[in-house]
Amino acid sequence: MVSNKKILLSGITATGKLTLANYIGAIKNMVKLQDEYENYIFIADLHALTLPIDPKELENNRRNIFALFLACGIDTNKSTLFFQSDVLEHGLMNWLILTNTTIGELSRMTQFKDKSSKIKTANGMETIPTGLLMYPTLMVADILLYNADVIPVGIDQKQHVELTRNLATRLNNKFKTNFKVPEPYIPEVGAKIMSLVEPTKKMSKSDKNEKASIYLLDDPEVAYKKIMKAVTDSEGKIYLSDDKPGIKNLLTIYSALKNISLQETEQLFLEKNYGELKQAVGQEVKLFLIEIQSKYTEAIKNIDIEAKKGAIKARETANKNLKSLMKGIGLDNESK
Ligand code: ATP
Ligand code: MG
Repeated sequence: MVSNKKILLSGITATGKLTLANYIGAIKNMVKLQDEYENYIFIADLHALTLPIDPKELENNRRNIFALFLACGIDTNKSTLFFQSDVLEHGLMNWLILTNTTIGELSRMTQFKDKSSKIKTANGMETIPTGLLMYPTLMVADILLYNADVIPVGIDQKQHVELTRNLATRLNNKFKTNFKVPEPYIPEVGAKIMSLVEPTKKMSKSDKNEKASIYLLDDPEVAYKKIMKAVTDSEGKIYLSDDKPGIKNLLTIYSALKNISLQETEQLFLEKNYGELKQAVGQEVKLFLIEIQSKYTEAIKNIDIEAKKGAIKARETANKNLKSLMKGIGLDNESK
């Protein structure tokens, strides 16, 4: 069946446990966009190798994330959900992409400069993992393999989509391919959920302080307590203001989970005190986690079947787009 829908590609790196911020900022939108776009959603387990990671931890992360996608509402009849490492085409495509880039181009990437500068100062140039330099070429490969139109990303990844746009144009000119030049997609409500401990910093799955984040697999009672202890301010009045990041964050979490606007949420709590707000948010978070986790228990049983189904569909698309580039480059292996 040929679909006229635009193609959307999105992935989450298997580097840690998913947080409520990953749900509100990313997964919730993917679920919402399932009907509008042809969705390819993957667990970026190859990208998780960029920096050293323990094999057991990687295996746990990738399976947890897959099951959480299902539990959060990714419907595999609408979206193609797969493990990146199940589609071997990513490896070969990465080689074809990186042989069309320069070291200068890759070492200018902000993320590479940030992450490698930390390692360089400590150990010297030769210890920077090559994967850190090549992270963007694998990302370009991910996108071009599905010939995606739109890539939902946070600001940190925008430069990599820019590189993909350059590469798509470069390959099309050089090899007469037909890759689309993808657009970054920044969600309308740029939901940025903040740390519960330092509300001026974003909530991150790589934050070492477990009290700063609600993990989707947290014990719901523990999560409730984290909300009750969330850092706020000493004013004692509830209203929306950038000068009150802790309160704004709690209101944002409530509004996202209840699917009501921030302004409506503010109205609900104008006359309430901080304790009452925290109880209400804690209760919503608790209910949400209970619901997700009950679905998760079911979902985890279906991972292998679902992953196989996703991989078959993903491979078919990836293979077609890989072959078109191979042909252009002069690697026309139809005989195989
Ligand atoms: P890390 O600390 O390892 O970078 P992360 O929590 O930032 O982890 P990513 O894997 O980088 O998670 O991003 C996954 C998705 O979650 C992205 O779409 C990103 O925009 C979104 N996301 C991450 N943090 C937040 C946040 N605090 N608020 C809203 N969305 C977020
Ligand atoms: Mg991040």
